[in-house]
Amino acid sequence: MSLKICIVGAKGRMGQAIAEATVEAGHKVVAKIDQGDDLKAGIAAADAVIDFSFHTVTESVFQTAAELGKPVVCGTTGHSQEEKAKLLEIASKTATVWAGNFSIGVNLLCYLVEKAAGILPMDYNAEIVEMHHRLKKDAPSGTALMLADAVLEPRGLNYDDLRHGREGITGERTEREVGMHSLRGGDVVGDHTVIFSDVGERVELTHKASSRAIFARGAVRAAAWSVGKKPGIYGIREVLGLA
Ligand code: NAD
Repeated sequence: MSLKICIVGAKGRMGQAIAEATVEAGHKVVAKIDQGDDLKAGIAAADAVIDFSFHTVTESVFQTAAELGKPVVCGTTGHSQEEKAKLLEIASKTATVWAGNFSIGVNLLCYLVEKAAGILPMDYNAEIVEMHHRLKKDAPSGTALMLADAVLEPRGLNYDDLRHGREGITGERTEREVGMHSLRGGDVVGDHTVIFSDVGERVELTHKASSRAIFARGAVRAAAWSVGKKPGIYGIREVLGLA
């Protein structure tokens, strides 16, 4: 079925990749919304809305989509924990697919990291390293936070155990802490590695994205899946049938 799609953040790097992926999948872009455009009219004209813009925009996208009863796919990252808590409430009023990364490879990586974190004892210290292009506005990346969830949950840890970078007299590394390191430069689309190190060996699980098309195709696939779904918050695993 050919769908009418509204893109929010349409002039951005991802917005442009999503427009291409929409057409490639046989759907139609009926609204390209960026700063200053009429969000409500754009969403009203569409079967589904795909938002890859800025963290402060998400609330109005979720609110408007809920009012109009339209499904939403959100790939925007950089929300604080407080923002997320508020957004989850609004997002549950319509069918919302929300993911920090829409690539199949990264979602496989998350699955493998979750298994490794559960199988390897805590003395296999976990550290997360991500690298992105120099124009990225938030850190750590949404994907790095998905990977953090995959490490923290099976180990009974929480966000207070994340150690964002290290500087100065930090003291010895504790067993609980999970290091998080963000590198920025050039045109890197997105590299993520989770390292589990013990004395004598280490395991490294890595994903490298070389094209934004992988996220864009995943988002368009999620939009097609979301049409007709009951209100609620879904992840990419549901879209892929892995949940
Ligand atoms: P970008 O800066 O190139 O584009 C963002 C766009 O949003 C810009 O055109 C900007 O003008 C627009 N925008 C800002 N305020 C707006 C408003 N009020 N209304 C409408 N549009 C507005 O950024 P990007 O590289 O395209 O990334 C966008 C977001 O997607 C970021 O949060 C990024 O981290 C995230 N991202 C997610 C995935 C994923 O798979 N989930 C993959 C890549 C990027």
